[in-house]
Amino acid sequence: MLNFEDNLSPALQPALRPANLTEDLLREAATQPTPDEAKTRRVRVEDKRIINGSADVNQLVPFKYKWAWEKYLNGCANHWMPQEVNMSRDIATWKDPNGLTDDERLVVKRNLGFFVTADSLAANNIVLGTYRHITAPECRQYLLRQAFEEAIHTHAYQYIVESLGLDEGEIFNAYNEVESIRNKDQFLMPFIDILTNPEFKTGTPENDQKLLRSLIVFACIMEGLFFYVGFVQILALGRQNKMTGAAEQYQYILRDESMHCNFGIDLINQIKMENPHLWTPEFRKEISGLMQKGVELEYRYAEDTMPRGVLGLNAAQFKEYLRFIANRRCQQIGLDELYAGATNPFPWMSEMMDLKKEKNFFETRVTEYQTGGALSWD
Ligand code: FE
Repeated sequence: MLNFEDNLSPALQPALRPANLTEDLLREAATQPTPDEAKTRRVRVEDKRIINGSADVNQLVPFKYKWAWEKYLNGCANHWMPQEVNMSRDIATWKDPNGLTDDERLVVKRNLGFFVTADSLAANNIVLGTYRHITAPECRQYLLRQAFEEAIHTHAYQYIVESLGLDEGEIFNAYNEVESIRNKDQFLMPFIDILTNPEFKTGTPENDQKLLRSLIVFACIMEGLFFYVGFVQILALGRQNKMTGAAEQYQYILRDESMHCNFGIDLINQIKMENPHLWTPEFRKEISGLMQKGVELEYRYAEDTMPRGVLGLNAAQFKEYLRFIANRRCQQIGLDELYAGATNPFPWMSEMMDLKKEKNFFETRVTEYQTGGALSWD
């Protein structure tokens, strides 16, 4: 007979067996509510709140935040795994001395150097920080899916590093050794540290603003801005028919990340609607300043990864692109645009995000990726 412990590591099994199972069950039964008490504990939609909510976080329905549930379903429908992408062409290109220029090799290594740890930071921020401060179960459900997607992204970068036979020590420690990467991560750390500090609790205007500030930095600056130079670089390589396996993976990652960013923005706007007192003029001014700082850091990273311009891309285009994205993030959370008239020098990036419109862009896979979670039974 199958036992629930069958797939567990034998070394861990004894620790999972409660010493006093019967006593625990009796204690649990004694704390069960009476039928009348139980009814009063049923969740009412109007009691749900994104932060500081009093409704039971274990009762997913009735839904209040349908947008979050829908994003959870979309995330599941877009499920993919790195090892399903064939890397043999990339490996041949990387081994061929004429396969890539030195500048292109630098782009790939710096790029992985940032991303191999970035999604790990993102995952820790969700699991150890954001999750426990969010009291809407629909949003928690999405965050659980998002956390797994961050793990898939870290897996994808690791898979590329391993396939190409890159120096793992060098790539995984780049966020300590490469200044332009370190500066981005050091900018983010204080905002992550606030949420992951076990002493930190929401419930005062000051602390609720701290949470909101960290959510904005995470969604609009980290996932919404700091990832984009890297995405453009690898996808531009793919468009030139180079490193197409890596590019295909980045395309899936870009699709996931644009959903993370959109979820974050919906979450921020919902918190603003439920807590308008947090959105003060001083707070808005501070957020605009952080956005500007983010643009500067990402621009310096672009210059550092492509000192001579490469792949038909140059620093001036990236400056314009980052200003364009920053304007959009500001507008999405209800702030004034920071850079008047900025336009998008890479309009092809929006095609990359929409895999349905342009499926199999790099022609590395036979069918569009959709999983059982998205099957219809009609
Ligand atoms: Fe993410």
